Amino acid sequence: MSTETPKKPVLKAVPGAARPSKEQAMEAVRTLIAWAGDNPNREGLKDTPKRVVNAYQEWFKGYDEDPEEILSRVFEDVSGYDDMVILREIDVESHCEHHIAPFIGKAYVAYLPTEKVVGISKIVKVVEVFAKRLQTQETMTAQIAKAIDDGLKPRGTAIMIDAKHECMTTRGVHHPDVSTITTQFTGEFKTNPALQERFIRMIGRSA
Ligand SMILES: [Zn+2]
Repeated sequence: MSTETPKKPVLKAVPGAARPSKEQAMEAVRTLIAWAGDNPNREGLKDTPKRVVNAYQEWFKGYDEDPEEILSRVFEDVSGYDDMVILREIDVESHCEHHIAPFIGKAYVAYLPTEKVVGISKIVKVVEVFAKRLQTQETMTAQIAKAIDDGLKPRGTAIMIDAKHECMTTRGVHHPDVSTITTQFTGEFKTNPALQERFIRMIGRSA
């Protein structure tokens, strides 16, 4: 797959600047390998820059995707359904913006629909768009809630993410069992603690 003329990113990487070329990105990987102390030209490493750059395309494909567009196709005939829609255990594979280290876990998303609902796979897709960008778990949690609020105008949104961060497990403090839980509640979920408790109970977690 050629990346010489990448799609225009939805988020501007550097305002006013063009994206670096694939060759420039591979050169940066060679520099990091040399900086780590190895020889980027040795047999085992010579194709690594290409693999890393291709992996980056996958890990960070969320920059080329627009959550607003994903949530734009809604179903308005819901036969009066107005209770929570909950998605449990959505896989989260992301990278922290502080270390570009993976953090991996699960997301739980609920919203209280007004007159429209969205295909449930679109919610999973929105989680994935934000996961495939650099951010912190906290900002990602807030961004998912905001995207759903903006896109669906629900009566409220609840998000929980539970993830383990490799920047804590394989470096730094080296605590492999610590997981980080973040929550964001908006609308009725924010103002009604009983709804929050019901969400926590229904996703199978203890409050
Ligand atoms: Zn980190």
